[in-house]
Amino acid sequence: MTRDPAHQAFLVLNAGSSSLKAALYGASGEDPLVSGQAERIGPEGALKLKTAAGEILPLPEGADLSSHAGAFAAVIASLRAAYPDLRLAAIGHRVVHGGADYTAPVRLDAQVMADLEKLSPFAPLHQPHNLAGVRLAMEAFPEAPQVACFDTAFHRGQPFVNDTFAIPHRYYEKGVRRYGFHGLSYEYVTGELARLAPHLMAGRVVVAHLGNGASMCAIYRGRSVASSMGFSALDGLPMGTRCGQVDPGVLLYMLDQEKLDTAQIRQILYNESGLLGLSGGLSNDMRTLEAADNEQAHRAIDYFVFRTQRELGAMAAVMGGIDALVFCGGIGENSRMIRRRICERLGWMGVEIDHGLNAKNATVISSEFARTTAMIVPTKEELVIARAARAVAGVSEG
Ligand code: ADP
Repeated sequence: MTRDPAHQAFLVLNAGSSSLKAALYGASGEDPLVSGQAERIGPEGALKLKTAAGEILPLPEGADLSSHAGAFAAVIASLRAAYPDLRLAAIGHRVVHGGADYTAPVRLDAQVMADLEKLSPFAPLHQPHNLAGVRLAMEAFPEAPQVACFDTAFHRGQPFVNDTFAIPHRYYEKGVRRYGFHGLSYEYVTGELARLAPHLMAGRVVVAHLGNGASMCAIYRGRSVASSMGFSALDGLPMGTRCGQVDPGVLLYMLDQEKLDTAQIRQILYNESGLLGLSGGLSNDMRTLEAADNEQAHRAIDYFVFRTQRELGAMAAVMGGIDALVFCGGIGENSRMIRRRICERLGWMGVEIDHGLNAKNATVISSEFARTTAMIVPTKEELVIARAARAVAGVSEG
């Protein structure tokens, strides 16, 4: 008799302000048995969980998606209905901020939770929600080890000059540093690259994570040495609705001249800027902008491509050159047009795209004789968390 694959399962959770993403992994394998999310948690809440075979799990009877606690209970009930034998060996959590000290996944206990709570002022839109998700899971599964994986951890070894801002040094001491984010994605891609092309991983790699959130990381011999995101997930490249790099003088103008308050400025920078803002409200979604092919869409796409090229130059300069450029994220993995446009003016750094390979979304998309290898490595952030959960439960993946 084959056992239910969920008899030793690993739950990966990513709790946000109005969503709860969940993925269930077995003891081995790269892809989840089930994944999906509760979204718009509140009066209009919805839950969508899909099996690896694409089957949508039915909403459990009496599901209450009006609160995070209700959404969590509904996720568990739904998983139990699909896998009656479900036994969670460990639970992994995405926690956005690990501060200066957490440089690797950590098993959660009261002390670690207290440390992580102190970091909430650094990531007020995410950290409190992430930790609320941890508490729900701890209450429901007090026996299961819980592990936190941080978006900041991968970058913690960066040199001081990329870790600081040129503001009074006391702010650095208070923790106002360039933490960088998307670390789980960079960790996965680095691992894949080490497997696919170890000679490249031993050199100078720039990974461009281009999704709804977008950032870039310079990786020298497998270690992050610079990243485009800074103190918050606003810095660097323009994103779906986030601004990317902006002169702080602009914020002073909004405060002093327009008399906006911090809530209004936060709303503009996080939710009304980036591709959405540049396109005059047309869309934050690259697919829609590509299809629109009008002046507003061109404005947004041109800026996105320009800033990405500019940041790439900076990343290569940090490492004294570049051996490989790797694309990931929804745009990086799927948009032939954006990859082509980014690469086409980078001949000076040895990037030369093969249009046929690029059109096929191949793993290597550079031409045979290009000095710099261009690649696509689809990212799997949740798998990094599942692996950490497996490790904490002592499951060897062989
Ligand atoms: P998140 O950062 O929320 O995880 P994703 O990595 O899923 O986001 O990226 C979402 C972005 O990827 C959207 O802008 C979407 O339009 C874009 N995208 C996905 N598929 C394509 C495609 N085939 N062509 C162009 N853009 C795409």
